[in-house]
Amino acid sequence: MIVVMKQGSTPAQIEHVVGRVREMGLKDQVIVGTERTVVAVIGNDRFKDRSALERADGVEKVVPILASYKIASSEMKKERTQVTLGGTLGAVVGGTKIPVIAGPCSVEDRGKLIDLAHQLKDAGATALRGGAFKPRTSPYAFQGLAEEGLKYLAAAREATGLAIVTEVMSIDQIPLVLEYSDVLQIGARNAQNYNLLAKVGESRKPVLLKRGMSSTLEEFLLAAEYVLAGGNMQVMLCERGIRTFESDYVRNTLPLAIVPELHRRSHLPVVVDPSHGTGKSHLVPDMCKAAVACGADALILEVHDDPEHALTDGAQSLNLKQFREMMISVKRIAEAVDRSL
Ligand code: PEP
Ligand code: MN
Repeated sequence: MIVVMKQGSTPAQIEHVVGRVREMGLKDQVIVGTERTVVAVIGNDRFKDRSALERADGVEKVVPILASYKIASSEMKKERTQVTLGGTLGAVVGGTKIPVIAGPCSVEDRGKLIDLAHQLKDAGATALRGGAFKPRTSPYAFQGLAEEGLKYLAAAREATGLAIVTEVMSIDQIPLVLEYSDVLQIGARNAQNYNLLAKVGESRKPVLLKRGMSSTLEEFLLAAEYVLAGGNMQVMLCERGIRTFESDYVRNTLPLAIVPELHRRSHLPVVVDPSHGTGKSHLVPDMCKAAVACGADALILEVHDDPEHALTDGAQSLNLKQFREMMISVKRIAEAVDRSL
């Protein structure tokens, strides 16, 4: 359930409600909105007496939340969540501006990464992606440069002001990734690693949560709920394509209908990854346009200075020329839906 406080309720009244929730053996999460504050009551409250909370001073009403994902639900919070990515370029996901997060699949060479970062910024990107810890299907494939790669990303931020988005694969990597990155990316393969999700929920850095490749929409939102329940409200939902019977013309199938549906069910911003969503660079620009047209709040995509020689995911990486052209055409789509890049 959620306890909706009256407009102008005092901190003492909110504190009192929080105390009562804890007395009932339930967890609380205070969400301060621009209009009013709500206290989310988390836990099994089916047999608890709602009317007891309704009587407290400053409480307007107590309403049950029907969705299984509670804090992620739009029942809980009417205003859309905005996530500030970091860096110095003012990248915010969830507003009218649509940030573009671009960069190589894996961090490779320091000089080339910094050079690429400058060019991405010049073309309009406001955040740099790049994996230092790579979740690879084969244990013999390139696993990423680990801390060395994180240092290169931080150097690229230093040089350009781009925010850094990079994957954290396990709980033991969190402190290191927090040290260098602005955003913690949870990969598709870890989308149901509940211990990891709960642990990033304890941090206060933004989380870019990829959809698991066979997660349903409900499972996706419940994965986000693990992060939110830890008190970290800075969550972005990233659609990156799912496994279907198609494996030839695309690597994954990009189900863009999830973008408006997530917006209907949740206040969290939605990011689309057309690189992993298609696996083919020639499909990426058109799917960027489609993603923006259907309401994506940000794009994340793979760009490499020389895709043919990329250590990972070269087939789905744009080169710089393709990236610049994509940015120009997507800008026009953004304007058509009252947004900007
Ligand atoms: C990536 O971003 O390079 C990546 C591994 O993504 P995903 O987890 O969506 O496969
Ligand atoms: Mn990749």
